[in-house]
Amino acid sequence: MAKSIRLNIVQGKNLGLLLGLAGLLLLLYSLFDESFARSTNGLISSLVLISVGTILYSERLYHGTIPGIKNNGVWLDGLSARGVLGWFVGIALTCFYIALYFYPETLGFNSEDSTGLVAFFDPLSIALNGKPATQWFVYGSLYTLAILIFGVKFILKYRHNRYQIIRTLSVMFFQLGFAFLIPELLAFFHPDTPYFAKDLKNMWPLNYYFFESWHLKNMLSGGNLGLFVLFSGLAMIFIVSPVLTYLYGKRWYCSWVCGCGALAETAGDPFRQLSSKKISVWKLERWLIHLVLVFVFITTIAVIWSFLGSNPSLSSFSRETFVIGIVVFLVTIMGVIYFFKRKEMDKDALYSMITLGCIIAGTIAIQAFSGEKNILFIKSYTLTKWYGFGIGAAFSGVLGVGFYPILGSRVWCRFGCPMAAILGLQQRLLSRFRITTNGGQCISCGNCSAYCEMGIDVRAYAQKGQNIVRSSCVGCGICSAVCPRGVLKLENGPVANRTNLPNFPLGNKL
Ligand code: SF4
Ligand code: SF4
Repeated sequence: MAKSIRLNIVQGKNLGLLLGLAGLLLLLYSLFDESFARSTNGLISSLVLISVGTILYSERLYHGTIPGIKNNGVWLDGLSARGVLGWFVGIALTCFYIALYFYPETLGFNSEDSTGLVAFFDPLSIALNGKPATQWFVYGSLYTLAILIFGVKFILKYRHNRYQIIRTLSVMFFQLGFAFLIPELLAFFHPDTPYFAKDLKNMWPLNYYFFESWHLKNMLSGGNLGLFVLFSGLAMIFIVSPVLTYLYGKRWYCSWVCGCGALAETAGDPFRQLSSKKISVWKLERWLIHLVLVFVFITTIAVIWSFLGSNPSLSSFSRETFVIGIVVFLVTIMGVIYFFKRKEMDKDALYSMITLGCIIAGTIAIQAFSGEKNILFIKSYTLTKWYGFGIGAAFSGVLGVGFYPILGSRVWCRFGCPMAAILGLQQRLLSRFRITTNGGQCISCGNCSAYCEMGIDVRAYAQKGQNIVRSSCVGCGICSAVCPRGVLKLENGPVANRTNLPNFPLGNKL
């Protein structure tokens, strides 16, 4: 009996794998056969095969397993342990991203009449937004499909954990509704309204073009709807996001809403243990992510500066008022952190922040009042081009997803996302969120550290009974879910004393 159940499970897994691979092959085949690329049935078959195959495989994989999370054999598997299969998938993903961003014609994209993979998605694109597909539509569709089907796999795996189930349903909902279907349907019903009316990720710096000239112009001349989008975007940046991060930490966004986080948590789940926990990598992470934040900040200042210079009639702000506003903003932030929060920051971080802030504020002020055309010596167009290429495409796409099987699933969130950097600073300094540790129960098994996708050495905190208050923690809750002793708890509570520093080596206060 046991043998036949086992056989069924193996057969089911193999069948699922075969169906999924067949669906993928159909996608590939559309690149080579023009008449197949025009076949609606071909597209439906491919997407159905991929979905059914993945879900069948996942169901069989976790079928009949006892409650609790199983990561057995994760370091012995070619895919999840940087084996041949892992490298193969990594290279294939990287090639796909390079083609998508830099050579879309290899996928069949043509602004007049696409062929290949892009044309393959025409029926879906026409049904949703009334126009033929672009390479970005193909990407959005596959991205959403990956989150949905691997989301089901994730829920089956973590089905004993309510937090994980609700969180995964949330990211599936936001990706399917807010990031994919609603923008496409808005484009269908309002084909002539400018782009801002169809783009729901209306929050800088996630939406790094929010302050770009064309976007600002569209919003300012877009009537009541344009002004609504502009002011709701500003409210998201300065009110909604800070309040939510204060209340719940950055998890409200990084683990419950964001599409990048959604893909990392679902399709990237088999790779979460690959994130490095070395101190040197932690140092690199802090430098890199904050440098990207500075870069996006400077780019935005330059873009607004040039916008105000070339469109004085569209805004009641002058360049000088804007510069004074930025300098006052920077000085206020640095002053508040220095006077109220310096004890919570390492000295090097505090001094780096103050030095950098002074250099930026000083340079902006000197240049602004000496009548320079380009603030910070560089054309805003050049900065946005660098940002779009280096950060938007190469880092977040090619490296961020292509390297899942090599560097772990949250490379972009950990090292490059400016949104994560801002939310992280606030989480570290002013948020009710923390992970509490019942250190006396810790058996030092290391599960929590191994499966922290952000590379946090959770065990080191647990062994000391110290709360985890880290800017990089995305609140995914996996450390808590995989802990066999119930040591870790994600909590919101008073801000005061949340960074406890116990002076005993092991165990909690009695
Ligand atoms: S510390 Fe825990 S909750 Fe935070 S990112 Fe790591 S695994 Fe997720
Ligand atoms: S906190 Fe839990 S998972 Fe982490 S080392 Fe201790 S017992 Fe293991």
